[in-house]
Amino acid sequence: MIDRQPKDLYLTCQSCRNRFLYSREEQRHNAGAARPSICPACRTLERLTRRRSGVIEWYSRQRGFGFINEDDGGSVFVHVSSFREPGRVRPNKGLAVRYHVQMTEKGPRAVDVELAAPAEEG
Ligand SMILES: [Zn+2]
Repeated sequence: MIDRQPKDLYLTCQSCRNRFLYSREEQRHNAGAARPSICPACRTLERLTRRRSGVIEWYSRQRGFGFINEDDGGSVFVHVSSFREPGRVRPNKGLAVRYHVQMTEKGPRAVDVELAAPAEEG
C-alpha cells in the first residue's frame, strides 16, 4: 500500500535559508503544484518589492486616480502623482503598466508607475 496522505514537510527557504512548514493542508490545496522554494515571509516581501505588472481597470482623469488590475490577481489603487511622467502619460482603461506596490495607512497603492509599452503619440 502506498501512503497517499501528504505529510507535513519542512522545507528550506532558498532566499533566507530558514526552515519553514509546508503543511498537509497547503499541499492538498496546491495539489500537483511544485513545492514552494521560498518561505511565506519571503513570498510576502517579494510580493511587495518585486516590480509588478497589470492593466488599468478604470481611471478618472477628472479625479486623478483609478485602479490597476494586477496580472497575478486583485487590484490596486493608483494616483496620478504615482506615474513616472505625469505630464506625458494619459492613463486609460486597458493600458498595460509596471509598478511597485507600497503599503500606506489607506492600503496598498501603486507607485513609480510606468507604461509597459511605449505611449502612442496623439
Ligand atoms: Zn525565507
